[in-house]
Amino acid sequence: MNEHGHEEWKQQLVKCIRCGTCRSVCPVFKEENNENTTARGKVQLLEGVLEGAVKLTPTLQERFNKCLLCKACVKGCPSGVRTDTLFLSARLTNANKNSLPLAKRLAFKGLTFRKLFDTGLRIGSVMQNVVMKKSDDGRGNQARFNIPGSGLDLRRIIPPLAAKPLRDIVPEKTTVTNPKGRAVFFPGCMLNYIYPEAGKAVVNILKRNNWDVTIPTDLSCCGTPAFTSGDQATGRELAAANLKALAGDYDVVITACASCGAALKNEYGEILQNESDHNAWQKLSKKVLDISEFVVKYGDPALFGALPMKVTYHDACHLVRGMDVSKQPRQVFATVPELDFRNMKDADVCCGAGGTFSMAYYNLSRRINDHKLDNAEATGASCLVTGCSACRMHITDGLSQRNSNMRVMHTAEIIDMAYQNGEKQKKGGKQV
Ligand code: SF4
Ligand code: SF4
Repeated sequence: MNEHGHEEWKQQLVKCIRCGTCRSVCPVFKEENNENTTARGKVQLLEGVLEGAVKLTPTLQERFNKCLLCKACVKGCPSGVRTDTLFLSARLTNANKNSLPLAKRLAFKGLTFRKLFDTGLRIGSVMQNVVMKKSDDGRGNQARFNIPGSGLDLRRIIPPLAAKPLRDIVPEKTTVTNPKGRAVFFPGCMLNYIYPEAGKAVVNILKRNNWDVTIPTDLSCCGTPAFTSGDQATGRELAAANLKALAGDYDVVITACASCGAALKNEYGEILQNESDHNAWQKLSKKVLDISEFVVKYGDPALFGALPMKVTYHDACHLVRGMDVSKQPRQVFATVPELDFRNMKDADVCCGAGGTFSMAYYNLSRRINDHKLDNAEATGASCLVTGCSACRMHITDGLSQRNSNMRVMHTAEIIDMAYQNGEKQKKGGKQV
């Protein structure tokens, strides 16, 4: 991931044959019908920049920001153009040239002060009701007023910060007798501060399969918000800190957040390509498993009890195209007795969250999300399952906006519930 002018850009741009396949899969193009938003349009723009015919002004830069980084164009490109790397590189160029807004720079820098960041979110959890109020349907919080610089639309419903982060609920080390292996779990910010119950489900899954679990105290944010916005220096700093924290005699590195998993498994390799930490990343990368991959590879299906629920599944972009995880959750669902799994149409199309995209372009992200919700509701499922907390948050907001009572859960929570039922069935107790 380099700044423009570097050879890497040219190598990618020259591969584009203008076929337009990327146009047919782009969720933003589908809504806006504007060639400028497609990967092909952006590739042409970058060619103009390299030739010196076009200046990458903040207005033109907007085209790279109006992108979900969903990787659908990368996956579908017959010439193998790494549009994702190109677009991130363009964002980096802009960040270096025009500088990111002060609020963003401070927020990203704040991520590197782990203890300060943790204290800030704990205070935020206590004080959040000053600026947020409970939504009418009780599914989350809404801003009481416009919060400058937050990008929070007043209609938007977001989950509250948890009263206790995951780190306060589960110990740093969970040990079992005669462990089958040693797992280190990277919960990331969302599972730690917003959805700790999903993080706890991950620990339960590992424990039930007789694995030791460690959640190192000195883990930081994975850095995705920073390096996808062009702040690569902060991204590198966070990557280096996490590689250090995750170093140890572990058999697997477990993630349960699509963006964290894709960062640890693949994207750190790009942002650290010229750094001394690259070797450490290569070793770590081979051990990274999403929790659904772990269950398929090491889980004991005999532990599952009946779970009579109708569920559908949304493939998060960073899981299906960032980690190649798509069949594993479905394999797990097929193994759980009485679980009625219903595949939705376009399950792997982006839900419109796209990190900060849904903050900057809320109306557009809602329109993209509506297709996802239509497809989910058409299955007749009562619960939508996903392996990404950002998707969960955006989809829950969408369901609230249309007064739907469909539940949204993390894959790990479904697996944990099935395990709990297995244990209860053995003991003859009541199922969850
Ligand atoms: S799919 Fe690939 S080759 Fe075709 S126009 Fe898009 S970027 Fe170019
Ligand atoms: S990453 Fe997604 S949103 Fe961005 S250009 Fe490619 S298909 Fe469109």
